[in-house]
Amino acid sequence: MYNGINIILASKHKKEQAIQQPFEEAFNAKIFVPHDYDTDKFGTFTGEIPREGTAYETVIAKAKQACISYHFDYAIANEGSFGPHPAIYFAASDIELMSFIDIQNDIVVVESEITTETNYGHLDIKISDNYDEFLEKIKFGSHGLILRALGENRILAKGVNEVDNLRHLLKSNFRQYQTIRLETDMRAMMNPTRMKVINKLAVKLVSRLKQVCKQCNTPGFGKVSVSGRLLCEDCGSETELYQHRVLECIKCNYQEYLPRADGLTKSDSKYCPYCNP
Ligand SMILES: [Zn+2]
Ligand SMILES: [Zn+2]
Repeated sequence: MYNGINIILASKHKKEQAIQQPFEEAFNAKIFVPHDYDTDKFGTFTGEIPREGTAYETVIAKAKQACISYHFDYAIANEGSFGPHPAIYFAASDIELMSFIDIQNDIVVVESEITTETNYGHLDIKISDNYDEFLEKIKFGSHGLILRALGENRILAKGVNEVDNLRHLLKSNFRQYQTIRLETDMRAMMNPTRMKVINKLAVKLVSRLKQVCKQCNTPGFGKVSVSGRLLCEDCGSETELYQHRVLECIKCNYQEYLPRADGLTKSDSKYCPYCNP
């Protein structure tokens, strides 16, 4: 269905390096990158412009807007969020979303990837502080930094990836500011680790688009949800744990039920509201 299509990429920061190849290999699709498209109005990483919607809403809105602005039938957009991992203590995480929009057929497919493979972090330094260990940890050089004046929350420099330049910038800015925050530049072209995650996600999105609904033939089959409740192994009551994974069509009501990824068919009594209230 998507063979040979032209897709507009509603993203800056050279993300086509991560996205083009999977789409070319699967669909012989061409990715176009507008040179004048300002995605910053949807919010920036560095917090200069705050995001209005959730990342999920934004990644769909960006792609739709690009379709309309540039008269394309198909668009891709990507959004990353960085912070503490929601489940793993003390680990930083990168949560990436990628959307594909087929505006004629009103098809919206969003895939996501959550990973601890990220250098996301920051260090606040004063003039005499040593920061060599931090530079090593965030793979400075291949990966860039943002310098921010703490307190005023002003960005002093972006995309810094040479040590001489970094030392020079710090020296001159410490004349004016007491504390400077070194923070990882998460823009894809400054962050090969993130670029790799985006590539992995593009591969995932391609395989979603190749799956077609058995009932209505719509591509993008496999939206994941869960249903049902596992029963307690001791008393047979319903627990909080879900029973099935459900793959859904994005258009019609067709669903496929799969077992849980962990293979559980009964719940441990510790999750049971009766055995362990
Ligand atoms: Zn029970
Ligand atoms: Zn369907």
